[in-house]
Amino acid sequence: MKQILLIAGALWLTIALTSCNNATSKQDKPSASTQQTQQKGNDTGKPSPNSVAQIMDKPEIPVLCYHRITEGKKGDYTVSPTTFAAHIKILADSGYHAISPAQLYDYLVYNKSLPTKPVMITFDDSREEHSAIAAPTLEKYGFRGVFFIMTITYDKKNYMTKEQIAQLAKAGHTVGLHTWDHTMVTKYKTDEDWQKEIAQPKEKLEKITGKPVEYIAYPNGVYNHESAEKMSKYMKLSFSLSTKRDTLLPLQCIRRIIVPDMPAKSLLKSMRKDFK
Ligand SMILES: [Zn+2]
Repeated sequence: MKQILLIAGALWLTIALTSCNNATSKQDKPSASTQQTQQKGNDTGKPSPNSVAQIMDKPEIPVLCYHRITEGKKGDYTVSPTTFAAHIKILADSGYHAISPAQLYDYLVYNKSLPTKPVMITFDDSREEHSAIAAPTLEKYGFRGVFFIMTITYDKKNYMTKEQIAQLAKAGHTVGLHTWDHTMVTKYKTDEDWQKEIAQPKEKLEKITGKPVEYIAYPNGVYNHESAEKMSKYMKLSFSLSTKRDTLLPLQCIRRIIVPDMPAKSLLKSMRKDFK
């Protein structure tokens, strides 16, 4: 009798498990075109995600990229604090709204609406002035920025401390990754490289900020199809620079323009020119 019960029990369990698998595989099987977007946490109740072609067709949102904000040498990678303040002021005065990567993702994948005149303001390389100058300037106008952190620079001279990075997240800014030591993603050969440059620093940043880290800026803006595909396993969006987009992986190559030290009016002009 006991044996019969055991067999019946095992049989029931097998049926239950099989049907459960069937249900999941039917529901969750993504079509090839939506696979990339489906992989990234498609919560139930959300509308179905856009296909890759639909994402490619959506108008691009201007994304600005700043590096150093300091007096002295001006150029592509350094703007003076006065120039930076003028840039942010003209954006606010012209009716722009700073959006987050989460908003951009929902716009691209789920057609969620964005505020009028959206712009994203991003900062690379974890410089200390990002916490001292950039964040307070943005906050003055109700803007929030995106800060891409190289984790090798924690607590080093001229770079943000862990506490400063945590404070950015607390104040509502987005903290993203900029790899461990700025090695270009196209140079990673082994799984160990991906662990060291992406997986481990992502985890560390998540501990520091208490929030998921789901966005990355490629060092030097450089990527290729292979690395972008691999990156999609770690990040919802990856940011490049003015390079051509990978039409098969549009979420892994969001274009940005480097903002040099230039008059505020020229900034508006180049935004219009580069993001039509
Ligand atoms: Zn960088």
